[in-house]
Amino acid sequence: MLKKNLLLVLVLFSIFLTGSTNEAEETVFLLGSFENPIIDSDMTYEEAFFGLSAQCPPHIRERQRLITVKYYSFDGKVHQGQLVIDMDLIDDIEFAFSEALKEKFSIHSVIPISHSNFRWNDNLSMTANNTSAFNYRMIAGTQTLSMHARGRAVDINPVQNPYIRGNVRLPANSTYNPNTIGTLTNDNIIVKSLVSRGWTWGGNWTALKDYQHLEKN
Ligand SMILES: [Zn+2]
Repeated sequence: MLKKNLLLVLVLFSIFLTGSTNEAEETVFLLGSFENPIIDSDMTYEEAFFGLSAQCPPHIRERQRLITVKYYSFDGKVHQGQLVIDMDLIDDIEFAFSEALKEKFSIHSVIPISHSNFRWNDNLSMTANNTSAFNYRMIAGTQTLSMHARGRAVDINPVQNPYIRGNVRLPANSTYNPNTIGTLTNDNIIVKSLVSRGWTWGGNWTALKDYQHLEKN
């Protein structure tokens, strides 16, 4: 009888052990899920605008919002990042990102360009294949304000979606190949979602190609 009870205790104890091990494994396994995304960016509003050019007029800055987005990154896991965008475009961007998440379109990272890795330097952000929107800057090589300066443009996966004008291709580590994951085309879910809401895709321009770029005037 004693032996039987001991056996029962051992069986129950082993069930208890197995149960808790599975639970621990499950928690680790779920990192990178919709409920428990890998956090790529977790800035405060102040951090997102830290170091912003003094030339940025207050009426532009006041329109910018820091929003949180989820996306499948190139590791096949759900990540969470942040984007600074004009207040009128939040709906469009949230729609496009949720559609992209449903279709598991890969986005490398989404981190505001004020981050210490970039310090408002578009080239550093592009080379890191980072997706970003607001940046108070001129169009490269001109004195004309970019649509990014008003938070009305977003650049997606610059390494798969270069800016190409003549012999200039940015970033230097980029290649455009529509068969590579993370590449934008007219059939891509982000392009389709934003174009359906009145955005323009730089991949459809003729004088130059800016495959990473989508804007709404
Ligand atoms: Zn752009």
